Amino acid sequence: MNSYDVIVLGVGGMGSATVYALARRGRRVLGLEQFSLAHDRGSSHGVNRIIRLAYAEHPAYVPLLRHAYELWRELEERAGGRLLFITGGVDVGAPDGPMVAGSLLSCREHNLSHEVWSADELNRRFPGFRLPRDLAAVYQADGGFVMSERAILAHAAAAHELGAEVREGEHVQSWAPEGSGVRVRTASGEYRADRLVITAGAWVGDAVPALSRLAVPERQVLIWTQPLRPELFAPGAFPVFNMEAAEGRYYGFPIYGVPGFKMGKYHHRCEQTHPDTMNRETDAEDERVLRDGIARYFPDANGPTLALKTCLFTNTPNEHFILDRHPELEQVSIASPCSGHGYKFAPVVGEIMADFALEGGCTKWDLRLFRLGAHP
Ligand SMILES: Cc1cc2nc3c(=O)[nH]c(=O)nc-3n(C[C@H](O)[C@H](O)[C@H](O)COP(=O)(O)OP(=O)(O)OC[C@H]3O[C@@H](n4cnc5c(N)ncnc54)[C@H](O)[C@@H]3O)c2cc1C
Repeated sequence: MNSYDVIVLGVGGMGSATVYALARRGRRVLGLEQFSLAHDRGSSHGVNRIIRLAYAEHPAYVPLLRHAYELWRELEERAGGRLLFITGGVDVGAPDGPMVAGSLLSCREHNLSHEVWSADELNRRFPGFRLPRDLAAVYQADGGFVMSERAILAHAAAAHELGAEVREGEHVQSWAPEGSGVRVRTASGEYRADRLVITAGAWVGDAVPALSRLAVPERQVLIWTQPLRPELFAPGAFPVFNMEAAEGRYYGFPIYGVPGFKMGKYHHRCEQTHPDTMNRETDAEDERVLRDGIARYFPDANGPTLALKTCLFTNTPNEHFILDRHPELEQVSIASPCSGHGYKFAPVVGEIMADFALEGGCTKWDLRLFRLGAHP
C-alpha cells in the first residue's frame, strides 16, 4: 500500500493550496480529487473570485487577507502568469446598514486606506453603476479578483514540481483512523498516511457526517450579460463590488477572461441541496432574479444574456469558515472555508491546514472565529 505523510481529500480551491503548502515543507503528500482539476461541479469555477481587504464580514479576516495578497503574488511568480488583478472594490449598502458599517469597521480597526462615497459620487466615478440616493459606498483601492480556476492549476503544478502527487478521478469512498494515522480507500486502491486533511468543499458532510448539519450546500447561479456599453465595465473603468440592496446582496466584476459582465446574488433562491443531486440546469426564474438587479442598478450592462452557470456555496449558520481539527481524531483536520466568500483565502488556508497536519494546530493567526466550537 502506498504511504504518505499527508493525504488531502479534495483538490479544489483549498485542497490544491494545501497540497502545495505541504509540498513546500518537504512532505510526501497525496491529493485525491474525484473529478478533474478545476472542474465545474464544485465551488471554485466560473473564471474568477473577488478579493478585498476591507471585510464587512468581520475585521478578524483582515490579517489573513494581507497575507493572502502576498501569497497570491508569490504564486504568480512561481507560475509565471497573472492570477491577481487589482481593480479597486466597493462595498455598497444603506449608510448605516451592515455592509457599509462592517466594511468601515474593518478599515478603521486595521488602518486601511478607504473613501466613503455617496451614491452620486459612486455613479460619477464608476458610471456603470446607477445607484439610488439612499445607498452609500466604501471604496478600498486593494479590491480586485483572483483567477480561481487558473490558480487551482497553478497550485497543483507548483506542488508537482516539489514532488507532490495529485490524482484526478479518484473519489474517496471511505477513510478510517488506523493507529495514529489514517487509511483512505478509493475505487483504485488504498492509501495510508500519518495525517488527513479534508478539503471536500460542498461534499464535506459526506466526508465528515458530523458536519452535515453545520456546513450546508446551497445552489447558486452566476450570470454573464453582454453590456450595452462594454467600456463602462472594463477593468480600470469598473471595480469589483458587493452590494446590499433592497432585493438582497449582489456581487460582480469588471469584464475579464471571458466576455460579459458577471454578477451573482448571495443565496440566490435559497435552495439547500446536495452536490450530487443539485439541479445544474438554469431556468427563467434564475435569470429573472439576476436580471432584475442588473436592470435596476447596472442598466448599461443589461444586454442579452451570454451565460448562466450554477455553482455551490457551503454555508455555516454564521457564515464564518471552519478551520479545525476533527472533533475526535487529532490526525484529521478540516477546512470548509466557503459560505460564499472563501476563495480569496485559499493560499493562507493551505498554510493553516499544513500547520494543522504537521504541528497539530496553527498559532500564527487568531483562528478562534473558525473553530468548530465557535459555530452554534
Ligand atoms: C457563485 C459563487 C461565487 C463566489 N464568489 C466568491 C468571491 O467572489 N470571492 C471569494 O473569496 N469566494 C467566493 N466564493 C466562495 C469560494 O468560491 C469558495 O469558498 C471556494 O471555492 C471553496 O473552495 P473549496 O476548496 O472548499 O471547494 P471546491 O473548490 O469545490 O473543492 C472541493 C473539492 O473536493 C472534491 N471532493 C469532494 N469530495 C471528494 C471525495 N470524496 N473524493 C475526492 N474528491 C472529493 C471536489 O470534487 C472538489 O474538487 C464563491 C462561491 C460561489 C459558488
